[in-house]
Amino acid sequence: MFSQFALHERLLKAVAELNFVEPTPVQAAAIPLALQGRDLRVTAQTGSGKTAAFVLPLLNRLVDLRERRVEIRALILLPTRELAQQTLKQVQLFAQFTYIKAGLVTGGEDFKEQAAMLRKVPDVLIGTPGRLLEQLNAGNLDLSHVQVLILDEADRMLDMGFAEDMERLCKECENRQQTLLFSATTGGAALRDMIGKVLKDPEHLMLNSVSQLAEGTRQQIITADHDQHKEQIVQWLLANETFDKAIIFTNTRALADRIYGHLVAKDVKAFVLHGEKDQKDRKLALERFKQGSSKVLVATDVAARGLDIDGLDLVINFDMPRSGDEYVHRVGRTGRAGGEGLAISLITHNDWNLMSSIERYLKQQFERRVIKEVKGTYSGPKKVKASGKAAGSKKKKVEKKSGDKKAAAKRKPTAKPKANAPLTSADGLAPLKKRKAAAE
Ligand code: AMP
Repeated sequence: MFSQFALHERLLKAVAELNFVEPTPVQAAAIPLALQGRDLRVTAQTGSGKTAAFVLPLLNRLVDLRERRVEIRALILLPTRELAQQTLKQVQLFAQFTYIKAGLVTGGEDFKEQAAMLRKVPDVLIGTPGRLLEQLNAGNLDLSHVQVLILDEADRMLDMGFAEDMERLCKECENRQQTLLFSATTGGAALRDMIGKVLKDPEHLMLNSVSQLAEGTRQQIITADHDQHKEQIVQWLLANETFDKAIIFTNTRALADRIYGHLVAKDVKAFVLHGEKDQKDRKLALERFKQGSSKVLVATDVAARGLDIDGLDLVINFDMPRSGDEYVHRVGRTGRAGGEGLAISLITHNDWNLMSSIERYLKQQFERRVIKEVKGTYSGPKKVKASGKAAGSKKKKVEKKSGDKKAAAKRKPTAKPKANAPLTSADGLAPLKKRKAAAE
């Protein structure tokens, strides 16, 4: 029961209004400590109820403020516009019986309108790092009275290259009394570094281990011969699976557009969401999808973070995400709040090794599924190593055939991968590009 927490009655009233009865595990663990004023580092998956876990203690701190609103008292930093909008909604719902006002500063919105909103000084400011810095540099933002700083999806912000911006914004909140950092994963060196810099003697709450992340969601792979074949499989799935709403994830915007085009050509009502779409289109696509005027959304990872979409029960990875964490974020869209979900990854021979690394990262094996109506010729590598990766490499075969022994001899010996070496969280965290860079 939420009444177990020492929350102000106006907040408890809002909680009741929202029909929240039992706190989720992350709320049960984080709310009491946050109410005591502790700095927290919380590892919790999206969909775990983490937003309320930081919003409620934050509002509780501000609820008794009687003074005229003259200062920004809290800053919530997060990675994407969509997550920012969603978080604003939650703050407004929880604050509905209080005088606390919240504002939003993200890219893609009118700069001057934002500056005008900032002149009215919201108590709680929610925003993405890039635009916040722009407003700061334009002299429109004073963060020196911020009491509570929240970094939501900090791992994702770091992955997106916001480390410097985040540090600068944290420095601007130099008089803060409390910092709460949330991430879906345990992160790597960059996250550890950030934690060391911004948190004071934090309590670390681990609400999930990676392998539990997609509980409630069945995870399957279907092998495919090439992209066209993948499209046939997608069409079959959309026509034959029972689902409320589905997201098809791609790694690139161009591919998202192409799949969207093909679906529309086949009379499938769908929307597409990626970073190149302008903000209005993104908002509209998301709203329509949420309302259910279309059951299918094609999206790049921009859409994967933090979106809370009711009834999302089918995730299709058209191509394999580039890291274990990205997989977790995509698949975390389904099977939320105890619901059932299905995540299907389409695997060509190019995706196989990435898929098997992700299986090892998650410490689970995906179900192999064959759909006889759209079965292709590829069904996985002939031989796999103990790691699950394909044994043998094309390169060697080519060399053998052409008898180019000189070239082979010239090549520097590469370190032999240890088949059973456990994946560290860094393996899952580092996007492929970074991992590639590290290997070169
Ligand atoms: P979040 O992980 O914060 O994105 O929350 C995921 C979803 O769970 C949101 O739709 C919340 O409104 C909902 N939710 C969070 N906490 C509770 C709760 N204690 N009881 C019921 N629903 C909740």
